[in-house]
Amino acid sequence: MIEIDNVHKSFGDLEVIKGVSLTVNKGEVVSIIGGSGSGKSTLLMCINGLEPIQQGSIRVDGTEVHAAGTDLNRLRQKIGIVFQQWNAFPHLTVLENVMLAPRKVLGLSKEEAEAMAVRQLTHVGLAEKLKVFPSKLSGGQQQRMAIARALAMSPDYMLFDEATSALDPQLVGEVLDTMRMLAEDGMTMVLVTHEIRFARDVSDRVAFFRNGLVHEIGTPDQVIGNPQRPETADFLKSVN
Ligand code: ATP
Ligand code: MG
Repeated sequence: MIEIDNVHKSFGDLEVIKGVSLTVNKGEVVSIIGGSGSGKSTLLMCINGLEPIQQGSIRVDGTEVHAAGTDLNRLRQKIGIVFQQWNAFPHLTVLENVMLAPRKVLGLSKEEAEAMAVRQLTHVGLAEKLKVFPSKLSGGQQQRMAIARALAMSPDYMLFDEATSALDPQLVGEVLDTMRMLAEDGMTMVLVTHEIRFARDVSDRVAFFRNGLVHEIGTPDQVIGNPQRPETADFLKSVN
């Protein structure tokens, strides 16, 4: 469970998160939508401790992310994160790229890491591409490799930050399908996405961010289907 409680976050004098509270329960899929600069990416960075916060707290399975004694490396092992783009190591094959963190971070043997990598790459539909170099993959395949790489660490949570927005339109679907499969598998996920229809389909809850605050939150049918606040409705109109 991720418990975000009254979080404030500034970059210098600029406060970009202004008191966000949000709980993500085990097995839940929560999508964050909202305009550019509203603080969506920043919140994800705060969840896995890549950015400090100035006030409030974030707990993951009860562990205070920003407490002095917290082992952030250990925490990050249970939180997979997928960004718009992941720069794989170009001189390593797809399989070797996915094996790397399980070997180095989890200390798995070569055989164990390989078995895990093969399993996850197969899961995302890349069983044929194990021996290929990343530059030979399509954008959609590269994003699925990034998902497999995160899954190879056996995370309890997956955070996605606009995982499809750098892709050509015809490649978006295959990545969304992979994310949908994870959701159906019961993975706990936080998705920052501009794919409103997808968010409506897969999410248990949707949060609309505006000016560093959760402006509206509820089920997809509430927030996307029947927004209560005019700013939410305006945003949805602007992206459709
Ligand atoms: P987008 O939809 O464009 O990705 P976002 O909602 O993810 O937007 P953030 O990236 O969280 O927005 O940015 C929120 C605000 O914080 C913006 O005003 C941005 O300029 C600022 N910001 C983000 N990262 C930094 C940083 N490292 N240093 C200073 N300001 C930052
Ligand atoms: Mg962003």
